[in-house]
Amino acid sequence: MSKYIFVTGGVCSGLGKGVASASIGNLLESRGISIRLLKIDPYINVDAGTMNPYQHGEVFVTDDGAETDLDLGNYERFTSAPLSRENSITTGQVYQEVIRREREGRFLGRTVQVIPHITDEIKKRIFNIGEQEGVEVTIVEVGGTVGDIESIPFLEAARQFIHDLGQGAVLFIHLTMVPSVADGELKTKPTQHSVRSLREIGIQPDILLCRAGMPLNSSLKRKISLYTNVEEEAVISAYDVPVTIYEIPLIFAEQKLDTIIINKLKLKSPPRDLSAWSRMVETYCNAERTVKIGIVGKYLELLDSYKSTYEALYHGGIANKVKIELVKIDSDQVAAIPAENSDLAGVAGILIPGGFGHRGIEGMIAAANYARTQGLPCFGICLGMQVMVIEYARNVLALSGANSTEFNQETEYPVISLLEEQVDIKTFGATMRLGRSESRLQEGTLINSAYGREIIYERHRHRYEVSSIFREALKQAGLILSGFTADSLLVESIEWPEHPWGLGVQFHPEFKSKPVDPHPLFSSFIAVCINRNE
Ligand code: GLN
Repeated sequence: MSKYIFVTGGVCSGLGKGVASASIGNLLESRGISIRLLKIDPYINVDAGTMNPYQHGEVFVTDDGAETDLDLGNYERFTSAPLSRENSITTGQVYQEVIRREREGRFLGRTVQVIPHITDEIKKRIFNIGEQEGVEVTIVEVGGTVGDIESIPFLEAARQFIHDLGQGAVLFIHLTMVPSVADGELKTKPTQHSVRSLREIGIQPDILLCRAGMPLNSSLKRKISLYTNVEEEAVISAYDVPVTIYEIPLIFAEQKLDTIIINKLKLKSPPRDLSAWSRMVETYCNAERTVKIGIVGKYLELLDSYKSTYEALYHGGIANKVKIELVKIDSDQVAAIPAENSDLAGVAGILIPGGFGHRGIEGMIAAANYARTQGLPCFGICLGMQVMVIEYARNVLALSGANSTEFNQETEYPVISLLEEQVDIKTFGATMRLGRSESRLQEGTLINSAYGREIIYERHRHRYEVSSIFREALKQAGLILSGFTADSLLVESIEWPEHPWGLGVQFHPEFKSKPVDPHPLFSSFIAVCINRNE
């Protein structure tokens, strides 16, 4: 039977509960324990698919096509635990299911209430993961901050786990903040208050992870322990790491967080083996050279909007033993000034990421044109690939005004357009081409040599495709169509001819990249950028 760890957050949002949960998973895996991770999001949206990246950061896509919170991306990067639709729970899903059953008359005339009906549905969903075969520990990250109205039913369900399973089977880990005031003194009061809020709803945390700019000294740990009833050794200092978030499992390991969890949950485990992870962190931290990569995007102000893409670039850096410096290039600016005067001129390669809607597209097209004509390595992902096709159609095929029907329905040359089956879809939730599918790579192409394989499986999240009407003309004009769906009907990747590295993919390779297993396309892209840097 699985044991359960609930990770809650206090004081304020944005403390990195996702990375903390993923790091706990990572540490337990380093002790040979089989884990699962799941995220609870207290918002009413059924999933993250309809949310603007500015609202909630990137939408992460699982193999089975769920559009989820970006923390699932952290889980995937830090651990080897499998993820699917079931690993993401929202208030919207829970209520939708309970209301569906109520309409079917399944509650036999009873009043349907938050307790027990909503809490039972939440518990059922958590048990669905924990009861999968061989799972020893299920880590449940409760989104939001303790004290939020929205999280109350989830925290109540979590509290009931102690009632249902008993002490020793459930652990509460609370992530909190220890801010410093003007003279640098660390203050424990917000932590005391947030633990008190948790206690008010019947939850006593077993372990505290205290975020602070610097490590907590033992007298502070003692003070926090005294006020919160958490044992001193279980007050863990989650201080800011200097180079990469991948150091976090290591600083937790230094404070024996894994052993504390294992003892409290009475688990049996072999000694810790973090060797591959430590080697990866060392490689990145000790890299002497830095490569500048430009991201030509439109959701640049929020760090989380292109989360997996940024991380995958760092992984490409790890694979090549270089540090990556991200240069964020607002596509609207590229459209406004000559490309050679923009930041494009100072980078070793550019990446044009995914996105939706017409804003910023002309700047991305100008950036693609600059990269193609100047031999600058260019990696187009999803929308980025579509932009590369539009640019090629306009400037090589001379199809003036060529466009995607997403941005201009009236274009004379719709080189990117909707699939027949998408034309009549009028709702937005979960109606795109989503999740894992097979692609076949053409022999002798750049993409084929990067993967070293002909059949690949990658995840999709898009509606528009390279139009079959223009496929032949694009090919005649030299564009290399290097990957297709298994039935050959859809173009999955394109390459620029006679160019050091100009590659666009319709899928999202960034979702599958891990720091200890960098994605081959990102490794290959960064390798070429290093050469250009030199
Ligand atoms: N907006 C484009 C489409 O729907 C690209 C989507 C994306 O980049 N994820 O096809």
